[in-house]
Amino acid sequence: MTAAPSGTALPLRAAYHDIPLYSPGTATCAVDLSDNTNLWGAPPSALRVLRAAAEDAVTRYPVLYATGLKAPLAAYAGVAADEVVTGCGSDDVIDAALRAFGEPGDRVAYPAPSFSMVPVFGRMSALEPVAVPLGGDWAVDADGLLATGARIIYLCSPNNPTGTVTARDAVLRVVERAPGVVILDEAYAEFAQESWAARAPGWERVLVTRTLSKAFGMAGLRVGYGVGSRALVREVEKARGPYKVGALAERAAIAAFAHDLAWVREHAAEAVAVRERLDAALRALGLAPAPSEANFVFVPTPRAALLGRRLQEMGVAVRVFTGLPREVPELAAGGEALRIGVGPWPLMEKMLSCLDEALG
Ligand SMILES: *Cc1c(COP(=O)(O)O)cnc(C)c1O
Repeated sequence: MTAAPSGTALPLRAAYHDIPLYSPGTATCAVDLSDNTNLWGAPPSALRVLRAAAEDAVTRYPVLYATGLKAPLAAYAGVAADEVVTGCGSDDVIDAALRAFGEPGDRVAYPAPSFSMVPVFGRMSALEPVAVPLGGDWAVDADGLLATGARIIYLCSPNNPTGTVTARDAVLRVVERAPGVVILDEAYAEFAQESWAARAPGWERVLVTRTLSKAFGMAGLRVGYGVGSRALVREVEKARGPYKVGALAERAAIAAFAHDLAWVREHAAEAVAVRERLDAALRALGLAPAPSEANFVFVPTPRAALLGRRLQEMGVAVRVFTGLPREVPELAAGGEALRIGVGPWPLMEKMLSCLDEALG
């Protein structure tokens, strides 16, 4: 290998200079509760489509904007097909929306802690990320978000990593007063009581994003979507670009909507039941999980890093958070927490007995 000639340093974009590669910091473990995917598996009809994959799904390009998927997504979300945009995961939809609506230098405001990719995507689009800490009881500070003057406000309900929902009045206040676009991330809608998706198109400037990576058990296929007004969705679609949903992914997703909505709903209901049982078991260990409406629970503890390490040694992966904003009253004690994914109860029992030992 010859070294690059001197004086030809890579001309880096300032905004990219110190963006790290995504690295959630969990090793492979026998029991992996670290990424909130569907631990009951994938819809059987989607798996059948993939096994029988036709050659043309491999040799030919997929449908430009996954139009075949829009009708089932629209029916599911309670909107019209032209009020839907798809993407390579909902990450891609969020990223495209920031690109579509943020001019370089604009602000993107979001509650903290929330989805870790938002400030990263913001910086990649040369936006200025502004974190607004949650208040007591994990309440979203609507006025704090509005006071940033941000061109784009991101909300996440149920929120990752806390699992808590954004109060109705906070959502409405932000939507009614925001000067620009509001992104409402509903990656965990299937596990919650309430969704805003059907109302999004009527609001003109609101994009609700959803995914098939969580309740639908299809994270490996990378299918996400957003719903909003026709004009808004069109702009996101421009930024998203063509061919983002692979042909196999589109076909498997269409099959899941056609044949396995009951499968998805049953497993989401089971996840909710396990979540409530897990919440009680964690309280019995002296912990104080946040009230979750997602398929994971968030447990603030000043010993999170240590506990996560011990669990890992025992073959159980959970997500460890350190350096969380201590302005959040429930995180004042150390800014650390564990996020534990919900799955079949035997996995929870295994995790709980390891956690009990790690605490002792
Ligand atoms: C998992 C998750 C996503 C979705 O990611 P995909 O790109 O659709 O796999 C989006 N937002 C939040 C908050 C998530 O936790």
